Amino acid sequence: MSICPKGKMSKSKRDKRKAQSWKIATPTLVSCSKCGELMRPHRACRACGSYNKKTVLNVD
Ligand SMILES: [Zn+2]
Repeated sequence: MSICPKGKMSKSKRDKRKAQSWKIATPTLVSCSKCGELMRPHRACRACGSYNKKTVLNVD
């Protein structure tokens, strides 16, 4: 016996799931606490090289 869906998924439920694709296309951005530049969360800032109020990258 294999796992099988109990019932047909409604158009609304199916389309709501498919509508999530924009979340992958547009990455989340936060502004740097040091310079205010937009950056990815949980990553060092590309503009000033800081992470968690400490400079972790060498920026020219
Ligand atoms: Zn910064």
